[in-house]
Amino acid sequence: MTSDPNCIFCKIIAGTIPSVRLYEDHEFICIRDIQPQAKAHFLVLPKQHIKSLDDAFPVEGRDQTELMGRLMRIGTLVARQQGLLPSGFRAVINTNHMAGQTVDHLHLHILGGEPLAGGFGR
Ligand code: AMP
Ligand code: ZN
Repeated sequence: MTSDPNCIFCKIIAGTIPSVRLYEDHEFICIRDIQPQAKAHFLVLPKQHIKSLDDAFPVEGRDQTELMGRLMRIGTLVARQQGLLPSGFRAVINTNHMAGQTVDHLHLHILGGEPLAGGFGR
């Protein structure tokens, strides 16, 4: 499985940086965000080091359609397990710098647990 020794999320996956894990299987982990932007805020990470959606669906090479489906599934299952359904949650994937991606390891944000502000962009 691909891993980047300089990547903070690869270090979390390897256990060399601590995290609060809500879920783990052979392919994903789900952790609490260290700087929550809602009452509930967690991240689903593929264990494989994929930098962003840009790399998950490259111009050339293998794309990650099935993995992305499973990523959304895990986000939804953990959201339900954490009590965010049926009231609702927000799922966000920031992609590359202009969208504010700060960690270059693909991750799905799940936010909820309280009413969320509207709006996404500027
Ligand atoms: P993004 O800006 O979309 O790349 O999201 C990166 C997220 O990772 C931010 O919400 C950070 O708060 C979160 N984050 C950074 N370092 C850690 C960490 N060590 N443990 C948990 N979450 C982290
Ligand atoms: Zn990584």
